[in-house]
Amino acid sequence: MRMAFQGALAEAEGSERLEALRVRFLGKKGELTAALKSLGRLPSEERPSAGAAWNVLRVEIETALDEALAARRGVEAEDEERRHGVDVTQPGCGRPYGAFHPVVQVLHDVVDIFVGLGFSVASGPEVEDDFHNFEALNIPPHHPARDMQDTFYLRQEGLLLRTHTSPVQVRSMLSQGAPLRVVCPGRVYRRDSDPTHSPMFHQLEGLLVEEDVSVADIKGCLEVFINRVFGRPLRARYRSSFFPFTEPSMEMDVECVACSGANPRCRICKGTGWLEVMGLGMVHPNVLRSGRIDPEKYNGFAWGMGLDRIAMLKYGLDDLRVLFQGDAAFLASGGVL
Ligand SMILES: [Zn+2]
Repeated sequence: MRMAFQGALAEAEGSERLEALRVRFLGKKGELTAALKSLGRLPSEERPSAGAAWNVLRVEIETALDEALAARRGVEAEDEERRHGVDVTQPGCGRPYGAFHPVVQVLHDVVDIFVGLGFSVASGPEVEDDFHNFEALNIPPHHPARDMQDTFYLRQEGLLLRTHTSPVQVRSMLSQGAPLRVVCPGRVYRRDSDPTHSPMFHQLEGLLVEEDVSVADIKGCLEVFINRVFGRPLRARYRSSFFPFTEPSMEMDVECVACSGANPRCRICKGTGWLEVMGLGMVHPNVLRSGRIDPEKYNGFAWGMGLDRIAMLKYGLDDLRVLFQGDAAFLASGGVL
């Protein structure tokens, strides 16, 4: 039986075969177990020596199997690790870097420029009340200016999604008083959707309140801004306009960033040579009063621009909606189509 075991052990490969050998020789119905059971049939004088011999063989088999199994399991564990384990010598596969959304990138650029001009940054709630969004900005109930901004109203009376970032100007005047230099970037909402309008878009408004501020100051401030954000000096022009919260009110146009007016078929400026970039004006005395600032002592200027519009001009986009469609290829390109 010793020979039979050793032969089988030499041929056994893998821990499963070794376990099978254990069953074959040492199991309840195993060969050695059967031999031990048969001792009772031997003459009594032969039993002790035969029993001792079988026991020696049993210990031999157990020891040999344990050793072979331990060695085999070590090899198998190594194989397993090689197949599924981590190869610490491999170079890392890394993760691609993310990028700022073009609108967020423009927001950072614009805020940096105004911070450099001495403005601080304020933010406010996107769900506003009628007072901050309209009334404090010289837009009383039933004023036709409310029709200029198609508003999303909430079910709770008096609450709405802010239609512009101007309420933050009111909140800043009330909390900080004059003198004041603040820019207010953020999301705003209007019922509007077409290639150049989105129901959610981004504005940045600015407000400066000091003594003896003139239209020349706002022109100087905004022309510095335009030249920095587009990276070169651009001609500017002003058209008179109307906003309830400023008087006088103006629209600022800058020369077309794509053609400077040289291309009658330019798709960016539609051949006009000019681009509308923002509305601005001197703060209406009623707005200063809503902010508890004395209009006899202080005056100031304010402006508002669409950050999405600046992003479109900067990146040469002709459809605003591409900014909000979550197209990973477009966003990874840094806004370049
Ligand atoms: Zn052009």
